[in-house]
Amino acid sequence: IPTIGVLALQGDVREHLVALAAADALARPVRRPEELAEVDALVMPGGESTTISKLAVLFGLMDPLRARVAAGMPVYGTCAGMIMLADKILDGRDDQETVGGIDMTVRRNAFGRQNESFETAIPFAGLPGDPVTGVFIRAPWVEAVGADVEVLAEVPAADGPDARIVAVRQGNLLATSFHPELTGDHRVHEYFVRMVEAAGR
Ligand code: GLN
Repeated sequence: IPTIGVLALQGDVREHLVALAAADALARPVRRPEELAEVDALVMPGGESTTISKLAVLFGLMDPLRARVAAGMPVYGTCAGMIMLADKILDGRDDQETVGGIDMTVRRNAFGRQNESFETAIPFAGLPGDPVTGVFIRAPWVEAVGADVEVLAEVPAADGPDARIVAVRQGNLLATSFHPELTGDHRVHEYFVRMVEAAGR
């Protein structure tokens, strides 16, 4: 059974701990570099990415996080966590740092004010059966991806024919704009646990 940490600086940490335990992982909060060193993989939760970024710097976690990602540690980021995994962000705060690792450009708060919160059914590549319920809360979307990034889910754009990318994977890194940890459907967390197991951790 893999030990999977949840970055516990700010955001919906508890919900991820519950979802990971339901997906048969050993889940524990990570606040300090020593705790990061003890986990096989990590979830970065939803919340406020500017706050999470600032606290990660303050707690001395930013460089250790980048080092673990570079060494291949599996990471799953939801919403603010997706922003933290982006190599490039749009509409971020000027001094906002990310861990990076996924070759993508993510736009913060992209779904806009009228749509600050919405739910929609989304087919998710790699998950058989029913679509997942996407819960979007001031969510980002992925505006551009590099060649090595696999698009796992999209939603139709409100204002035209385009689709908006809302879930991606690059190697051991997984990111969703939405929050499966809030739905009671643990299939995306199970998908991540299988990724962690396949990575041999
Ligand atoms: N809008 C938030 C941010 O930029 C993300 C919202 C969320 O994680 N639910 O960090």
